[in-house]
Amino acid sequence: MNEHDSEKIAWILENMGYLPVDSDEEADIILFNTCAIRQSAEDKVYGKVGSLKPMKNANPNKIIAIGGCMMNMDESRDKILKSHGHVDIIFGTQNLFKLPELIRGLSSNNKRIVDVKAEYSVENDKINAIYSSPYKALVNIMYGCNNFCTYCVVPYTRGREISRDPKQIISEIEKLVDKGTKEVMLLGQNVNSYGKSLCNNYNFVSLLKEINNIKGLKRIRFMTSHPKDISDELIESWPQLDKLCHSLHLPLQSGSNKVLKEMNRHYTQEKYINIVNKIKATVPDIALTTDLIVGFPGESEEDFEKTIETIKKVEYDSSYTFLYSPRSNTPAAERDDQIPHRVKQERFEKLLVELYPIALKKNTNEIGKIREVLVEGIDKIGENLVGRTLHGKLVNFPGDKDIIGSYVNVKIVGANTFALEGRLME
Ligand code: SAH
Ligand code: SF4
Repeated sequence: MNEHDSEKIAWILENMGYLPVDSDEEADIILFNTCAIRQSAEDKVYGKVGSLKPMKNANPNKIIAIGGCMMNMDESRDKILKSHGHVDIIFGTQNLFKLPELIRGLSSNNKRIVDVKAEYSVENDKINAIYSSPYKALVNIMYGCNNFCTYCVVPYTRGREISRDPKQIISEIEKLVDKGTKEVMLLGQNVNSYGKSLCNNYNFVSLLKEINNIKGLKRIRFMTSHPKDISDELIESWPQLDKLCHSLHLPLQSGSNKVLKEMNRHYTQEKYINIVNKIKATVPDIALTTDLIVGFPGESEEDFEKTIETIKKVEYDSSYTFLYSPRSNTPAAERDDQIPHRVKQERFEKLLVELYPIALKKNTNEIGKIREVLVEGIDKIGENLVGRTLHGKLVNFPGDKDIIGSYVNVKIVGANTFALEGRLME
């Protein structure tokens, strides 16, 4: 979500005549799009913004702007306001469309501007984006979140859940496809509740069916699915939706029913495993990925063991694991049974010891198979082509860069915990 906002901000700035430069020194405007999901993300921002002070003092015309989730949190915004006087513009997640006005406003009166309206405006839908890939695009289908998981800041920083008009979504994707996009990633904090704010029977599956009919589009992905809202209709429709990728990101967070209840997640370990079994029965080659939090307040060794037990039952292809990070004004942060950092760290490491061999086993199972891959580019060392399979797995393989942007068949010849190695088929 944040990444796509950055693509939109880039479009806004380029539309105003700004061009990207290679260094902070050269820039006329330096803009931060912040994340507030964990403290570590916030800390990086304070450090980086602080380090720009001498540069701003030397060149007062350089504009420094900060937006994103952190600026929709009172405490973080106040910290910037109090201790980073060299910041010129503060904007929020919901008013990106106002950025040109804020930048022009600053030029005319040279006073710091703070505008962090926390309600979604349809004006945001008029913003285009500079996509980081010509072949794949992130597409918002909804904004905000109504779930209030007790550890999470998102409902406070991104406001209430609102679904975009399906016509707008379809038209956006059609335009992208006309320009060469082949894959879309549909974005929402809880895509399975898509349509609830539209007041008719149009739901996520209705939207997927329409997108599946778009000529020239090859693959559809989505994130994130909340286990409490994933429907049998979606699972049962999967085989008919031929463009829908065979991968599902289904955040578990914890395997303990006590912790899940305290997190306000509205499902149990049993319900979660039941969903997984249904999807495995309907789409047998589904690749499953998840988010896990260790060290939620009050998490006992027994609770943690339940997470390990669930991991072993589900067998994830890959996972994002997080140490619980207290976020101001969230109910979990107020609790007095916080888990010491050392214990969180130990559990985190134990979790990886369980997760990695499963991921390696899943990837090793791919060896010998022929997979269709969208060639996305060249790896960081400029040696191999990189692409993703229908299952979302990363494949590195030798080949000519002329085929970047096309779908090719690749034979999987090697695997590690995080990626596959392939050979191009003739
Ligand atoms: N809407 C998505 C998640 C968005 S946030 C969903 O419900 O699945 C992405 C992930 O960050 C979450 O799934 C959770 O695992 C993690 N996260 C959120 N708040 C956190 C916190 N306070 N500490 C640690 N991890 C957190
Ligand atoms: Fe946060 Fe829960 Fe909403 Fe996801 S569903 S964004 S974890 S409150």
